[in-house]
Amino acid sequence: MKNLTMILSPNRTSRKGSVPDVICCHQSNAPIQDRLRVYSDPKSMESVHFAVAKSGAVYQIAEIGFSAMAFPHPEEEPLCRTVRERLAAPDRYTVSVEFENEKSGILTIAQYRAGLEVFLSVIDGIRKIYGGFLLDREHFIGHYEIEPSEAPNCPGIDFPLNRYLADLKKILG
Ligand SMILES: [Zn+2]
Repeated sequence: MKNLTMILSPNRTSRKGSVPDVICCHQSNAPIQDRLRVYSDPKSMESVHFAVAKSGAVYQIAEIGFSAMAFPHPEEEPLCRTVRERLAAPDRYTVSVEFENEKSGILTIAQYRAGLEVFLSVIDGIRKIYGGFLLDREHFIGHYEIEPSEAPNCPGIDFPLNRYLADLKKILG
């Protein structure tokens, strides 16, 4: 992946046997450099796997074999059925990808393309390491579908979840 910088975070844990099979999209609500500082700080106990800047720059913060620390308040009534039906904490089986953005979540063209490359790379990695990835809206979701009360606007209403899913299906067949 071009434009990729590794800034691995100390804030990662074991997947404890869970297979990553859900990609979860987030919105930074802050400049990406501010978020990277938070992810580098062990005291924050926060991280995601990838961050995609408005410029199209991509930062890898955790390897997909590890759990990131993205969901501090797991809720009892997630919107996503896959999440609702599982006992394990969402961090165990998700790959979190954050986009530098605020408000409604409209991406820049460079950012959309970089995000697409990140998702292709994540899916390719999961398929190689774990054998498969089911590409549908139950496995490609927004943070609000895991924590509808805590994070109703993560990512924003204009974040192109469905366009990404359609493009990924077109490319991957
Ligand atoms: Zn989020």
